[in-house]
Amino acid sequence: MGIYRLGIGCIIIVCVIAFLFFSVQRKQTAMHKIFACIIVTAIAHLIAELGAIYTLTHMDTVPEWLNRGAHQVFLILFLVIFYEVYLYMLALIQNESGETVRKNKWMIIPFVISMVGVLVLPINYYCEADGAYSYGPAVNIIYLSVLACVVSVAVYLMKSRKIMDSKKKKAITIALLSELGVGIYQFFDPACLLSSAGIVLLCIGFYLTVESPDNVLIELLQDEKKKVDDARNEAVIANHAKGTFLAHMSHEIRTPINAILGMDEMILRESAEGHIIEYAEDIKGAGELLLSLVNEILDLSKIESGKMEIIEVQYNISSLITDLVNMISIKAESEGLEFKVNMDKSLPAFLIGDDVRIRQILTNLLTNAIKYTHEGTVELTISGEVKEQTAHLRFSVKDTGIGIKEENLKNLFEAYKRIEEGTNRYVEGTGLGLNITMSLLNMMGSKLQVESTYGQGSEFYFELQQQIVENCSVATIEKESNKNIQQQKTESGFTAPNVRLLVVDDNRMNRKVFISLLKKTQMQIEEAESGYECIDKMKNTYYDIVFLDHMMPELDGMETLKRLKQLDDYPCKATPVIALTANAIVGAKKQYISAGFDDFLSKPIVYKELEELIMKYLKKD
Ligand code: ADP
Repeated sequence: MGIYRLGIGCIIIVCVIAFLFFSVQRKQTAMHKIFACIIVTAIAHLIAELGAIYTLTHMDTVPEWLNRGAHQVFLILFLVIFYEVYLYMLALIQNESGETVRKNKWMIIPFVISMVGVLVLPINYYCEADGAYSYGPAVNIIYLSVLACVVSVAVYLMKSRKIMDSKKKKAITIALLSELGVGIYQFFDPACLLSSAGIVLLCIGFYLTVESPDNVLIELLQDEKKKVDDARNEAVIANHAKGTFLAHMSHEIRTPINAILGMDEMILRESAEGHIIEYAEDIKGAGELLLSLVNEILDLSKIESGKMEIIEVQYNISSLITDLVNMISIKAESEGLEFKVNMDKSLPAFLIGDDVRIRQILTNLLTNAIKYTHEGTVELTISGEVKEQTAHLRFSVKDTGIGIKEENLKNLFEAYKRIEEGTNRYVEGTGLGLNITMSLLNMMGSKLQVESTYGQGSEFYFELQQQIVENCSVATIEKESNKNIQQQKTESGFTAPNVRLLVVDDNRMNRKVFISLLKKTQMQIEEAESGYECIDKMKNTYYDIVFLDHMMPELDGMETLKRLKQLDDYPCKATPVIALTANAIVGAKKQYISAGFDDFLSKPIVYKELEELIMKYLKKD
């Protein structure tokens, strides 16, 4: 009766494990499937063992074939369970190394041979008061299979020990040791009937180490994490592709805009017919708008991909505001609005900061104020105070325009979001301006604030801390700049027939625009359509200044310059080389200067900038 009790106890334990295992939903992996088979086979095997013990202890009443049959079933199930355990351990190891279980199913051969052995080889029985068991060749062949299985898993485990998770290693080691221990004990003391306890031990070992609900949860979490990681990687790749596309598109679009605006500029200068000038003015307006849209999209993509940089340089706030006022007052005037500028003239003029971005922010706020104001005033105020070597500036743009409803204020800074789409349908815009402005200010450690009354007007304002370079006030500078303006007036429209200039660009239209813009200067302008031609010309002829395009097929501007710098001696060794590009990438200037260019001119070419650059690099005479 004691033997039955042990068997029944084992069955109950395995049933409890089965219940716990099947009550939790798991991933359909090979490992879990094999463990499910192990539990089911273990229960069948333990029941078969009880049957075999019964027939053995009742040999006088049970027919011989039935007793043998019961033992064969019990022994074959024993083999099946060990084969499954073997597969399970392989699945555990291979899960880590990424191989499939299928490849190593060759072990089925010794197991099948053993099964045939169980069916055909003789089985002997022992049944006395001290115990009942079977022995003989059919039983011994099972020991051989189990030994082969233990050895092959142990070898495999040794090979994969470095890549395996410690929990799985522990599970396999427990399984191997319990199989080995139980097998050896059972071999030398067959009457102990420890094999069922060994199988229970295996099931408990696997369940507690790798199959527990905690592990299932970890597995699920790892899966989720992998999904999130994959999605993030995909998003990063897509975003990168978008960024590259936009940078490329910017170049591709800016190049033809350059041609359109340049040619248009020529029409404006050379035509004397009123209606032609009118058409050309329209082309100019549309071209400039198109350019600003391309720039906005590009800026946003740069901000989103973290490529936007704040480049701090020394600048003159007085000239920044003067430029801005010149530009905005024309717009305000054409819309019939009054444009007021209040600037605290005691503020220091020379500061350190990103003037390009400050200009962009103010331009954006001022053009918005003009766009959304039908009548009245647009007012720009720059005030502030000086604390030690820092100027605490406050910029404000106030209008008497349509205003913004209280409930819309929270959506104001969202990208692509335009407020009151219906009313503003005919006002040009993308809904990107304020988002870009806000991001730029955040990058400068500031914040865009807004106060607005619907129907009465709005005020957009922000504060900036800028380091002071020298204690020279705006008022002092203004006197100086007045002198400069006078000087510039006399300088503009200069002629320089002795100057030799080389323009290098693969695009014929761009070269034509460039040459047309400088026609009145009477300079001797030569063209080169590739990097190779540029090197060739510069090796043989002297030029006073060279404009070299960056993006060219085969040999681009950077590479051309690099090759030129490697030359020992040539007539243009000291000639300034200016990078010419439609690539509006932030930090471009820095990039070109560090590549060895003397300066940088962005396309579409603004005539004033081109003229200024030539003036800067050519000797006065
Ligand atoms: P948009 O290109 O549409 O002007 P912005 O991001 O610059 O995009 O502005 C977002 C929205 O905020 C605009 O569509 C407009 O409805 C509102 N807005 C911006 N500035 C003003 C202003 N000064 N007065 C009234 N509404 C404004």
